[in-house]
Amino acid sequence: MRDSFGREITYLRISLTDRCNYRCIYCMPQHGIDNKLDHEDMLSLEEMYVLIKNFVELGINKIRFTGGEPLVRKGIVDLVGKVSKLKGVRDLAMTTNGQLLKQMAKPLKEAGLNRVNISLDTLDPMKFVKITRQGDLNAVLEGIDEAINVGLTPVKINTVLIGGINDDEIRDLIDFTKRGIDVRFIELMPIGEAANFAKERFVSTNLVLETVSELVPIEREDKSSPAAYYVLPGVKGKVGLINPISCKFCENCNRVRLTSSGKLKLCLHSDREIDLGSALRNNENIKEIIRDAIWTKEESHHLEDEQYIIRNMNQIGG
Ligand code: SAM
Ligand code: SF4
Repeated sequence: MRDSFGREITYLRISLTDRCNYRCIYCMPQHGIDNKLDHEDMLSLEEMYVLIKNFVELGINKIRFTGGEPLVRKGIVDLVGKVSKLKGVRDLAMTTNGQLLKQMAKPLKEAGLNRVNISLDTLDPMKFVKITRQGDLNAVLEGIDEAINVGLTPVKINTVLIGGINDDEIRDLIDFTKRGIDVRFIELMPIGEAANFAKERFVSTNLVLETVSELVPIEREDKSSPAAYYVLPGVKGKVGLINPISCKFCENCNRVRLTSSGKLKLCLHSDREIDLGSALRNNENIKEIIRDAIWTKEESHHLEDEQYIIRNMNQIGG
């Protein structure tokens, strides 16, 4: 599937639920999400599967499950099993906070999941509680070990840099690369709860390079990835720097997103959505709607605007 700028769209990111077992300070309010989706607005996993099948038949070959927290969605292992068997799926991955990974890594691997990205913003148990409000650091660390044990690899760790909170832990987090794990630092976006404080707490990923001056740049393997990669000399794992706002890899963008209510989002930074869930329930021609929508994918994102997107990351799937 190509869009009107000639980009081939091969990557689908799916938010399986807007719910989560954490309440990260930059993502969700303490009391949980406002405007939580009613169950009937959320696609069933069967409906999700039908949409995914249509996407794969149209040329999507890489799928990532995210959320909210994908591992709190009941039936996730079965869905992974069915999607992994679709002819044409070459890479099936998941982004998770890792809280439930220790017990779920093995069944997920057996169902056909290839790899996981795990969000981890701090190695300090007290700070971990401060950031996630209800997470347990030890469970995540055990989840990382288990993911490696069962072969959900390469494991990648995603860290959102938050000024005054975890910007003093860059070196400790980079130590994970010595275990062959990629560690990616992401700049805080003014979205979700962070819309209220992103300016004050924003830390540029340049700080990573200033803090660990031994890092050497390596060539970008995947042109569509928003991360610029570096390594510590002689170390296998990579350090990725992601500037979601200022990055300008739009010309190589190959991804679209599906929300848990079945809305197709062609660009993370746009509020425009196409309601595939309703189209499915009305027996409309899904392939035609997807193809037409992809053709209209935004050329690039405009970030100078003060008014940023309305949805939170837990709804879009970060
Ligand atoms: N719950 C899962 C997790 O945390 O990995 C998957 C969904 S979460 C929305 C996906 C990613 O979005 C996480 O790595 C999270 O840190 C990131 N994220 C959420 N809000 C963000 C923000 N305001 N700025 C930057 N990244 C954010
Ligand atoms: Fe949940 Fe992920 Fe949002 Fe944290 S960032 S509240 S783990 S969805």
